[in-house]
Amino acid sequence: MNKKTIKDIDWQGKKALVRVDFNVPLSAGHITDDARIVAALPTINYLLEHGAAVILMSHLGRPKDGQPDPKFSMKVTADHLGTLIQAPVTFVTGVTGPAVESAAKALQPGEVLVLENTRFDPRETKNDRSLAQELASLADYFVNDAFGSAHRAHASTTGVAEFLPTAAGFLMEKELEYLGSALEDPKRPFIAILGGAKVSDKIGVIEALLEKVDTILIGGGMANTFLASQGYPMGKSLVENDVLGIAAGLMEKGAAIIQLPVDLRVASTFAADAENKIVSVEDVPADWMALDIGPATIAHYANNLSGAKTVIWNGPMGVFEFPVFAQGTVAIAEMLASLRNAITIIGGGDSAAAVRQAGLEEKMSHVSTGGGASLEFLEGKELPGVAALNNRE
Ligand code: AMP
Repeated sequence: MNKKTIKDIDWQGKKALVRVDFNVPLSAGHITDDARIVAALPTINYLLEHGAAVILMSHLGRPKDGQPDPKFSMKVTADHLGTLIQAPVTFVTGVTGPAVESAAKALQPGEVLVLENTRFDPRETKNDRSLAQELASLADYFVNDAFGSAHRAHASTTGVAEFLPTAAGFLMEKELEYLGSALEDPKRPFIAILGGAKVSDKIGVIEALLEKVDTILIGGGMANTFLASQGYPMGKSLVENDVLGIAAGLMEKGAAIIQLPVDLRVASTFAADAENKIVSVEDVPADWMALDIGPATIAHYANNLSGAKTVIWNGPMGVFEFPVFAQGTVAIAEMLASLRNAITIIGGGDSAAAVRQAGLEEKMSHVSTGGGASLEFLEGKELPGVAALNNRE
């Protein structure tokens, strides 16, 4: 990685404005998974230990029309951060403005200030220069550790970089190194596992990966569309009829690379307790739907994976929210966890959630914090939040 990182800067007595990705899942005002906050700790602790005062900013949820909504206040993340680090953490109500300015001014080395949700300011998602400038005026340096938001050109991810010298945080650095080296110089065999609901979301990534990988194993709802494109009747399964032609084209182009399921777990209805059975891909009954890959597919995919040296996985193999249809996803996670001498990269989003749910996160080489960002990176797109960071001289 040729970006300047926080290790390249002398932090003594300096103020660091750090874009983190604290967009954590909430339920009834509580954080249900703090992985994103934990992932930012190495950067926050490094800055504090090296004499910086740390100002954190992030978005949280999707407040409507860029208006403040107490449901999405960053206070809950500030309180939680206070329990995870030794340093004092204070929260200020406001993204910019007089209260924020005086809190930032008073902030001492070794202390943390958390700003209010950047999306409470309608200028954030417009990448408005005046907001970027106001944010930049709070600090000496801008640090971006929010890989999960790097595919968005917003004031707090890219705009602010115009007004301050910048550095990548450790999480950003780790993400770029794992994803970057997998694409640039993968150890082979290099296998991609792609699942999730739709082909249409991942056409670009499939096209890009066809040029790079040795094998693509397909599961999840998108497998239904691929199977339908090959003429298999898919009953009531989720099938994207409008991209059948594109799916058929990808199958033709990737004939030697793309593998599809050979059997499926089908259900009578879309429900956790639905009646279900295993059928071969030729035999999906007209009024049933495929909600997971079947055991023969799991065995076939495990066989492919057994010799892999680099694996990238994005998207669950089935409706993993329902335990009975999570079996394919869990089996793939266990298979990856058992690989020796292989780089295993989980591309954020639902596959990261599934790996965490199975308690296998520690067994993977890298679990990305950015679903959308990692997909765009794999597609070969330049992420605006990364492009905005200064290179090493
Ligand atoms: P994505 O956001 O594209 O990665 O899709 C994840 C979603 O795909 C999850 O909520 C899964 O429940 C859903 N999914 C996976 N397999 C299927 C399937 N066979 N039918 C319907 N939805 C599926």
